Amino acid sequence: MGEFELIRRYFMPLSRLHGSRSIVLGPGDDCAIQRVPSGSDLVFSIDTLVEGVHFPLNYRPDYLGWRALAVAVSDLAAMGADPTCFTLALTLPEADETWLRDFAFGLGKAAESFGMVLAGGDTTRGPLALSLQVHGQVPIGAAICRSGAGPGDLIVVSGTLGDAGAALDYLEAQGPSKDEEFVLERYHHPEPRLALGTALRSRATAAIDVSDGLLADLGHILEASSVGANIECARVPVSPALTRLKGSEALDYALRSGDDYELCATVPEAIWGDAPSSLKQQLTVIGVIEQAPGLRLDGAAVVSESDVVGFDHFRRKA
Ligand code: ADP
Ligand code: MG
Repeated sequence: MGEFELIRRYFMPLSRLHGSRSIVLGPGDDCAIQRVPSGSDLVFSIDTLVEGVHFPLNYRPDYLGWRALAVAVSDLAAMGADPTCFTLALTLPEADETWLRDFAFGLGKAAESFGMVLAGGDTTRGPLALSLQVHGQVPIGAAICRSGAGPGDLIVVSGTLGDAGAALDYLEAQGPSKDEEFVLERYHHPEPRLALGTALRSRATAAIDVSDGLLADLGHILEASSVGANIECARVPVSPALTRLKGSEALDYALRSGDDYELCATVPEAIWGDAPSSLKQQLTVIGVIEQAPGLRLDGAAVVSESDVVGFDHFRRKA
């Protein structure tokens, strides 16, 4: 099977999932064309996943397809953007049809679920790696950036934290328990919080998705906004499954492990007070933004630098 047959068979169908309003021209020409409605900003981002670095060797291709798009789209959710389309740069060691079919299936399920179409891409041969560029849109000026948090703002997070990080301990488990299955599902099938992101658009002063760990990612908001924060540890949402699996270490997972793709946002107290209960139910208040720089847990400064820096490919080990 040649490169173009491969694209036609497995990837072209993902450009026709549903009528996309904004894609004027999909895959097949030198470029794709997207028409951005007047009154909208185009919000876009690219993410690369390398086998053995961002996902395990011999990872299930249908899971990879879902995960690759979900983690990329999570950045759109964090900006409050509505997803429209994506491009895929795929590097493959060989054209394995079973692998391609399963990968395209997982990717297509994700695309459909997030309301996106595949607008184009690039296919090359080499060690397995993929880059996905995702496009979304927001009303002009409405994107939520990391830089807007102010003293007194409440810090909120969606869902529960630490599950996906804990799942890394069970990836090889034979016959996983119910609790292990729960956290594994959280790792394999992250759900970008798209509806929540758009609901936060007119309310949050800053937002980020939790990909590297709460302390690290909140740290990025604090730095961009030139503020500090205090987190009340007892309020950090932890799933019953994680508590049963990790006991007293559950909080550590929730604070420091990544891959959950929940949202962390800052919301002024008055706006939080007026927010509809349907929104409040999806979020937990875990702390408050403070004038004094630095991140504190129950009032005590977080000491270890690695706590707040998170994962960095190029940082030298001490
Ligand atoms: P060019 O040489 O002009 O850059 P390519 O040969 O790389 O074009 O790609 C031909 C067409 O196929 C382009 O429209 C491109 O967007 C599309 N394409 C290539 N790889 C993929 C892929 N993995 N998924 C979707 N579309 C793809
Ligand atoms: Mg060309």
